[in-house]
Amino acid sequence: MMFKKLLSPIQIRSLELKNRVVMAPLGTGFYDHGAVTEREKYFHRSRAKGGVGLIITSAASVSRPPNPEASIAVCHGVIHDDKFIPGWKELVEEIHHFDAKIGMQLNHFGRQIPFKVWGEQPVSSSAIACPVCRATPRELVLKEIEEIITLFAEAARRCKEAGMDLVEIHGAHGYLGTQFLSPYMNHRADEYGGNAEGRTRFVREIIQRTKKMCGQDFIVGVRINGQDNIKGGATIEDAKEAARWLEQAGADFLHVSATVYGGYPPISPMEEPPGCYVHLAEAVKCEVGIPVIAVGRIDTPQLAEQILEENKADLVAIGRPLLADPEWVNKAAAGRADTIRKCIYCNQGCLDRVNDINLEGKKTSITCLVNPEVGKEEAFKIRPAPKRKRVVVVGGGPAGLEVARVAAARGHEVILFEKEKELGGQFLLASIPPSKGHYREAIDHLVREVVSFGVEIRLNCEGVVHSVAEVDPDTVLIATGAMPLVPKIPGVENKNVATYDKVFLGRFEAEGRVLVVGGGLIGLEAADFLSSQGKEVQVVEMEDRFARDMGKVAWFALRRRLSAGGVKLLKSCKVTRILDRGVEVLEGNQKKTLDGFHNVVLAVGMQPRDALYKQLKERIDEVYVIGDALKPRNALEAIYEGAEVGRKV
Ligand code: SF4
Repeated sequence: MMFKKLLSPIQIRSLELKNRVVMAPLGTGFYDHGAVTEREKYFHRSRAKGGVGLIITSAASVSRPPNPEASIAVCHGVIHDDKFIPGWKELVEEIHHFDAKIGMQLNHFGRQIPFKVWGEQPVSSSAIACPVCRATPRELVLKEIEEIITLFAEAARRCKEAGMDLVEIHGAHGYLGTQFLSPYMNHRADEYGGNAEGRTRFVREIIQRTKKMCGQDFIVGVRINGQDNIKGGATIEDAKEAARWLEQAGADFLHVSATVYGGYPPISPMEEPPGCYVHLAEAVKCEVGIPVIAVGRIDTPQLAEQILEENKADLVAIGRPLLADPEWVNKAAAGRADTIRKCIYCNQGCLDRVNDINLEGKKTSITCLVNPEVGKEEAFKIRPAPKRKRVVVVGGGPAGLEVARVAAARGHEVILFEKEKELGGQFLLASIPPSKGHYREAIDHLVREVVSFGVEIRLNCEGVVHSVAEVDPDTVLIATGAMPLVPKIPGVENKNVATYDKVFLGRFEAEGRVLVVGGGLIGLEAADFLSSQGKEVQVVEMEDRFARDMGKVAWFALRRRLSAGGVKLLKSCKVTRILDRGVEVLEGNQKKTLDGFHNVVLAVGMQPRDALYKQLKERIDEVYVIGDALKPRNALEAIYEGAEVGRKV
């Protein structure tokens, strides 16, 4: 059997798990003020059905938010009141139905929650401001620490009453548990600080109070940071020492992650290698006798198996890969690991949205770039079309491939026209900048899928009116994408000027000093690309901030790379004319010249390529336009639109 170790059972105390795959805690935003909803149940049920051995639900707050509308109560579940028990019980029963086990991660946010979201000044082990949430927290007094320990234990008691198999105390990622465990955040001089014994006391007392309240047999694990990834933070040596103390206090397992808010790298972005925190789990495992869970970009069953075979951990936790493909485990077990839809670690649909909720108070929920079914598991079930139609899709980019996939899966005859010699569209460009190669995997998967559903693919085939009409379709889906916008300014036709796509595709060779016009995602990635080729690069942006269309995590990582590459960033500066060796700009009301540049690269936006749609909508009854051809946006929205329209036709 392949993946023998991964699929073998394991015991945590008296609890037997059918395999060693743990679904890592993931904030979803599917809750209703923290209460379990049908959507949350479907989401977890599909992962249990997909074969995972254990699900750990995400970061439920043990304390009542002072602001009843606190969006944190919307991103994660809560467990600060008995009234939430029935909802969790229903979820637990659904998971147990699939022979999977379930536990809850218990959390207190401490200082890692903005004042405006939480509703009052946050608290922490010490009064040290979080670099991301900004406000300085209030240092907890001993009586309050005691009360919070009881809140954790009472929350665990509710979990037990709901039928949960275990709880995990969140001591990682910078939340209150970490705020005690980390020397960077814990500057206390009393018995809750000072040294490893003091810093672990808070979590140790939670373990002991929980066991006292729920029984010694009730399983209590702890998620810890193997390192905080921030100056002065916990190192692996601190983590090893903490692990010994926590085991002594009765912890039944340890789950080893890394990073705090403001730490670098943040939660494993695309730039980090697969299995990026496994060495931390391995080091902790050498210190303790209890099971250790490894996490952090464990993207394939092959890697998971290797980690377990080499005895670096006892279990592996996967989070985002289960968003991308809930059937990850079943496919591995059935010998179909090559059909797993891989997470590309873009964070666009998941972590960026979680940050929008937790840090900005936005009412949204997670989805997934490569799997638009996340959070719509029931509504987006593929249902056979009532009548088989002949469907033409024009454009083989992400939106076109997704709409073709769904339409074909529903039983339609689908013919896909792509004007280039290769499928992929904007994803081909997206895969070119440094660290973005994973976008190729997303294309490859979509192509495999459309082929497996029998879509007829016509490459090098421009979708023009007569070629579409020749096929005599019932329905036409226009996904012709967008093209770079060229600003109407003097000098734009000069030989030293090119749009970003030509640079990425190698159709324009920039040299020497390069000025990139446009400081959104594409312009910044073009700058990164050029800088990685040894060019001296400056980016000019007319608005007062860069990366407006980027998520925080991706921008955090890209900004560091740009800075390391010496890329200069100039904002609030509008280019008005392109010269032979530079540009004229308006900075406020002041006219200036930026000179000494050999080339100018334009990345100022896109415009829809929608001429075919305009021609066809007069001739064919059922014509849809989707993705960038409708309105240039990010890939997340384009693919989602493909998924939605594919279910309508
Ligand atoms: Fe992975 Fe991106 Fe999907 Fe998140 S949105 S699960 S990072 S592919």
